[in-house]
Amino acid sequence: MSSLPNDAFPNPAKGEPFLLTPGPLTTAFSVKEAMLRDWGSWDGDFRAMTRSLCDQLVALAGDRNGEFVCVPMQGSGSYCVEAMLGTFVPRDGKVLVLANGAYGLRAAETMRYLGRAYTLIDKGDYMPPRGDEVAAALAADPAITHVIAIHCETSSGILNPVAEISEATYAAGRKLLVDSMSAFGAIDLDVNHIRFEAMVSSANKCIEGVPGFGFVIARKSELEAAKGNCHSLSLDIHAQWANLVKSGQWRYTPPTHVVAAFLEALRLHEAEGGVAGRGARYTANRDVMVAGMRELGFETLLKDRWLSPIIVTFFCPADPNFVFAEFYERMKAKGFIIYPGKLTVVDSFRIGCIGRMDAAIMARVVQAAKEALAEMNVASAAPPPAAIAERAKLAA
Ligand SMILES: *Cc1c(COP(=O)(O)O)cnc(C)c1O
Repeated sequence: MSSLPNDAFPNPAKGEPFLLTPGPLTTAFSVKEAMLRDWGSWDGDFRAMTRSLCDQLVALAGDRNGEFVCVPMQGSGSYCVEAMLGTFVPRDGKVLVLANGAYGLRAAETMRYLGRAYTLIDKGDYMPPRGDEVAAALAADPAITHVIAIHCETSSGILNPVAEISEATYAAGRKLLVDSMSAFGAIDLDVNHIRFEAMVSSANKCIEGVPGFGFVIARKSELEAAKGNCHSLSLDIHAQWANLVKSGQWRYTPPTHVVAAFLEALRLHEAEGGVAGRGARYTANRDVMVAGMRELGFETLLKDRWLSPIIVTFFCPADPNFVFAEFYERMKAKGFIIYPGKLTVVDSFRIGCIGRMDAAIMARVVQAAKEALAEMNVASAAPPPAAIAERAKLAA
């Protein structure tokens, strides 16, 4: 039985699968339902909704002294990463980008588009950037002003050690920016525990809203000092904030229905016990799913220490009867949309643990995988030796 209140789960029989993907993800019925009316963006009711959204997010980040502010921004998560980098990094600043997957590399690509100085530590597909490496890079290059870290690198599912990275950054007198897109709301990023200047996340990840905007939570003094930094009119976080303070409004058309849905998602988040409750459900989702998949012979890319409760990468089985595209279609027919892998060296696929799903549903995912393997005549889900060799390179 489901541990979640009945909210009309997706009905695979009606062609509506669960999304085992890291956003867009499966949302509660009441979140979808909250979009069934129209809101005037200028109207006082909507301005109150925006204020509530920002207040709740700052509280989620643990700020109790009014030191941090939240600024929502239209667009998907990448728009907000670009807005954060463009706004908080001065034009003559320099960023140390910590990459171990697609999102870290995207941050570096963003810096290239911005035409601002950066340097890259690229750990490959899934090795975590460590505090001592950050310390060495900062000691070697006094021009670096900021470090950007990816909290959960969603391309492999690795949970990067942001606390350690933060300590190294501030020990060297530099500033930290965090892409916590797929972690915030389920994994601790409390301002009282981890020091940073700004972090970014979006509506359709761990808060379980629908896609359409992101938000930056930033130290107020840092945002005040960022006036005039931004390269872009529409992505200027300072200008968006100044307008919110002045009029309570977003500068340009806000995604009104998405905001309404997000407020309902926040209500459910709080009802579930906030960050701890949400994190516990995702952890249970992961544990049931990983244990079941391992029982079928699948192996995870990462050792348990680095496995996030957000998304898990599995090696594709070595059995020649296993064809990912066919596995995908069979899983979809059973009601579950999974995610192709993003590794460069070996074939892989990913299963997300986030969204309106619980351990009972994850057990059904494992059962569906078992049936799909049988239908494809895959005798063993064990990965090829090359995959195991690749994994052996991962630091203990
Ligand atoms: C989802 C995500 C993003 C943003 O991706 P969009 O497709 O632009 O929403 C950025 N960083 C991480 C770590 C993510 O998981």
